[in-house]
Amino acid sequence: PPGLYIVATPIGNLGDLSPRAADILSRASLIAAEDTRVTAKLLRHVGSERPMTPYHDHNADRVRPGLIERMRVEAIALVSDAGTPMISDPGFKLVRDARATGAHIVTIPGPSAAIAALTLAGLPTDRFLFLGFLPSKEKARADSIAEVAAIRASLVLYESGPRLGATLAALVKGLGSRDAAVAREISKAFEECVTGTLAELAERYAEHGPKGEIVIVVGPPGDAPPPEVDDVDALLREALDRLP
Ligand code: SAM
Repeated sequence: PPGLYIVATPIGNLGDLSPRAADILSRASLIAAEDTRVTAKLLRHVGSERPMTPYHDHNADRVRPGLIERMRVEAIALVSDAGTPMISDPGFKLVRDARATGAHIVTIPGPSAAIAALTLAGLPTDRFLFLGFLPSKEKARADSIAEVAAIRASLVLYESGPRLGATLAALVKGLGSRDAAVAREISKAFEECVTGTLAELAERYAEHGPKGEIVIVVGPPGDAPPPEVDDVDALLREALDRLP
């Protein structure tokens, strides 16, 4: 049926493309793709010859109204280069405007590097905050880190190899040395997940950043356990004894 189909695509391993995603990519009237050259490879993989149109940060405002118009009568798929659209990728305004016009909106869930990294890291996953890419300028980056320092949740960040060392150093400075993990090339041939304290990881990657795509996961602050109930009772008794 007509509408907007948000399609998650693999973050490295083509085997992660779901049958449902392949089906939509083979049948949509039009595929709005962040980079049509990247998506062309995926379409070849599934044997799809459906037409594509670029949809990225630089043309989105201009082409969005046309896409919104077309999805009333046609099935329009949205994909990004890799992973889930809108997760540090374009698409949110397209969905917002599609909702405003009452379009039929369907998501085809699938890989996202943030979630995949959380499953590898061995850090608490019950509460997490996704920060995407931190700003590259030092002051803005430090401010972003300071803003979240007190939040009792794991943090998930995207980063590139060349900037990994500087970002880890800024995280140590802003958060102290928490447990953390650097997950790299997830689902690809050289997948690895290196764990340690932020300070250890900052030192390891200080000289040269590794190749490939990277997710940093940082554990929540200060794992000091809450006082035992017995201790609280003892503390209260002591305090009471000291009362005049
Ligand atoms: N929308 C994508 C998703 O759902 O994961 C993320 C797009 S964002 C522009 C690209 C960043 O995601 C990379 O710089 C890297 O931080 C992370 N990333 C993507 N693929 C990855 C992979 N296979 N392994 C580790 N990190 C990856």
